[in-house]
Amino acid sequence: MYINVILPLALDKTFTYLVNEEEYKFIVPGMRVVVPFGKSKHYTALVVEKHQNPPTLYEAKEILQLIDESPIVTSIQIEHWFWLASYYLCTIGEVYKAAFPSGLILESETILNANENTVETTNVSDDQYLILEALQHQSSISLAEIEKFIPKKKIVALVQDLLQKGLLQIQEEVQEVYKPKLVKYIKLNNSFSTPEALQEVLATLNKAPKQKEAILHYFQLQAVEKKPISANYFLEKTGLSDAVLKGLLEKAIFEVYYLNQERIVFEKEEGYEIQLSEAQQETFLSIREQLVSHEVCLFHGVTASGKTEIYIKLIEETISKGEQVLLLLPEIALTTQLVQRLAAYFGNQIAVFHSKYNTNERIEVWQKLLKPNSSTKIVLGVRSALFLPFTNLGLIVVDEEHEATYKQQDPAPRYHARDAAIVLAKLHQAKVVLGSATPSIESYYNAKSGKYGLVTLTKRYNDTALPEVHLIDLKDKYFRKRMDGHFSDELLSRMHETLANGEQIMLFQNRRGYSPYIECMTCGHVPQCPSCDVSLTYYKYKNTLSCHYCGYSMAKPTHCHQCHSLDLSTKGFGTEQVELELKKLFPDKQIARMDQDTTRGKFAFEKLLDAFKNQEIDILIGTQMLAKGLDFEHVTLVGILNADNLLNQPYYKAYERAFQMMMQVSGRSGRKDKLGSVVIQTYNPLHNTIQQVVNGNYVAMYEEQIYERRNFKYPPFYRLVQLKLRHKEYAKLKEGSMWLYNVLSQTMSLPILGPEEPAVNRIRNEYIRTILIKIPNTSNLSATKLVLKKVLTSFEAVPQYRGVKVTIQVDY
Ligand code: ADP
Ligand code: ZN
Ligand code: ZN
Repeated sequence: MYINVILPLALDKTFTYLVNEEEYKFIVPGMRVVVPFGKSKHYTALVVEKHQNPPTLYEAKEILQLIDESPIVTSIQIEHWFWLASYYLCTIGEVYKAAFPSGLILESETILNANENTVETTNVSDDQYLILEALQHQSSISLAEIEKFIPKKKIVALVQDLLQKGLLQIQEEVQEVYKPKLVKYIKLNNSFSTPEALQEVLATLNKAPKQKEAILHYFQLQAVEKKPISANYFLEKTGLSDAVLKGLLEKAIFEVYYLNQERIVFEKEEGYEIQLSEAQQETFLSIREQLVSHEVCLFHGVTASGKTEIYIKLIEETISKGEQVLLLLPEIALTTQLVQRLAAYFGNQIAVFHSKYNTNERIEVWQKLLKPNSSTKIVLGVRSALFLPFTNLGLIVVDEEHEATYKQQDPAPRYHARDAAIVLAKLHQAKVVLGSATPSIESYYNAKSGKYGLVTLTKRYNDTALPEVHLIDLKDKYFRKRMDGHFSDELLSRMHETLANGEQIMLFQNRRGYSPYIECMTCGHVPQCPSCDVSLTYYKYKNTLSCHYCGYSMAKPTHCHQCHSLDLSTKGFGTEQVELELKKLFPDKQIARMDQDTTRGKFAFEKLLDAFKNQEIDILIGTQMLAKGLDFEHVTLVGILNADNLLNQPYYKAYERAFQMMMQVSGRSGRKDKLGSVVIQTYNPLHNTIQQVVNGNYVAMYEEQIYERRNFKYPPFYRLVQLKLRHKEYAKLKEGSMWLYNVLSQTMSLPILGPEEPAVNRIRNEYIRTILIKIPNTSNLSATKLVLKKVLTSFEAVPQYRGVKVTIQVDY
């Protein structure tokens, strides 16, 4: 008897293994098994089928071990994963690998570390003890190494158990493993849990009345609250001093333990109710109505219209029917505010799926969902939350559906989370709400053409007016010498006014560093990255030149490396330069910068947001991070220092993106009862896109763009498949891409563009060429993809082009 399994390798097919009768009876698709593969490796594979047909091309090997007692993957998930692989032209193994937290798919190459935070090693078997002991002599160990002293068949189960007990950790290649914020809790030492023991202790405390009082308070609190008591909460409620608590801890009467902050934020706030405004209520009802006749509804609501509140009502209704909800967010940075709002309303019915979660935390969410009658009804997560084992999805909400971060770039599967969500919903017969203040052209087109429902909310909550937008013509300002650094006189006077009113300012500049490049004023030489085809960005604080593509960095040269001239000049400007200018212009104000360089640390982003929210910062300068749906009530001025570099991008979505970015940043200005304003500085005040922003006219932007898309054969009228070819040798790549282009043009009667050198045509010493295939909506997509796959297979077989890597982006 046989089973078919998916292996966590970039392989296109499932593989067949032999099982005995007993195993055959027991196994259900969705369970994991350990199987040998290749010469000596073994992997955790996923069963997708069982049958009685021996494979014809190879002899089936026996499985090594069965891991699960019940399936941990649903049939819907498996179906969804096969769809992802076929639509996005990658292998099912790659999807499987991306879908699972790495701790659930151990393989020979998995590397393990001891967990330094746990000491207790009781409760382990002799074999497990051997593994732990090995880790006392070396810092890490792979499963393959463990095989040398423990029978192969047993390893995965033993290691899995050690992981669960927290004695081992998987070494992850994530640069920055997310560390949850821990909160200190106190509890009574277990040995005093009987009334007698307690009486005894209290008796010994006669000379320490405060400590005695503390214990009694503790019992009272516990009786009322029926939940863990944090040290802070305890001190606040009892009014006792820290010293009293310390004394009790020293006597070991109380003990300290720690809980993950996020697990406790999820406390329902009693009495927290949401009263929708009239306009919101109407919107809520129309969305509901649209969802009767459509699977998907696009919810176009201006910034600060209260989309979150409407989501909450929709979610509430769905879970009251006993169904699950997935709320997708483009980036987890956004969740900080949103999670708090949803958690206050829904309490522990929420689980969060972070991009920075480590494998154990991911597994925890996974298992929560699998538990029958689980209290978890709502998952808030980033795109990978789509892979979780939902059993009964009723609704998927995709917030900020236009966000580019929904598209996974690398590695495969290079999927679009919004589109994959719509397919997943269909499999569950669930509904989808796509929310945005600036919908993507594709979604709006789908709504306009009747494929999706469309609901528009044009009013901000509380009738707060949309901000006034003021355009500044930079050419004119420079000509008339009305600029101070990169600030026009008008922007500066508005800034002074805003600060005088005790309000806050956000400034947007879409470049990091001090300046995007430096140039020799004598010979024109611009220092380049040695491995990439880009100029090096200048960082003044660190006095370095750095590459944003590969991370290369060097000290800033004192003279030109070409002609030895000392006359080096900085060109263009980034956030660092703006920050320095601001410090000179506003010496007594608090200024902070938010970009990739200042938000690297664990909670750096959250800290900045908190400080800004608490008005510890007056002016916040940042890159596109500022555009995210953040909500600050005291911001009344937003400045866009240079709109032009947003517009000048070599991508068919450049204007759409520029519009979205500017509208989103502008939307941060003026909330609650304060009127906000926006200042946009540009050399092209008459540019259509800029005018559309000034007028807040989404529809005008849409109409212009959709006209262009139709004319020039772009989505939503054509589907784009981009092939990216890379190789270290320029000539080989050039010939290889030409070969591929020619064969594709001959086999497909479709518009094919290329092979083109992208704007940055070399990264990490690999040259890059791209080919773009345009597939009209009217042609058969899967047939086209099949042809493409065949051509690629024959390309791989051409000996001269061996080593040329091809990656495929579907819906580029
Ligand atoms: P959006 O996501 O559409 O930009 P938000 O959901 O962030 O808007 O809402 C903007 C602000 O208005 C938030 O501070 C939110 O708490 C408040 N708000 C919106 N609707 C309501 C409501 N019905 N009751 C109370 N506050 C609301
Ligand atoms: Zn020079
Ligand atoms: Zn580089």
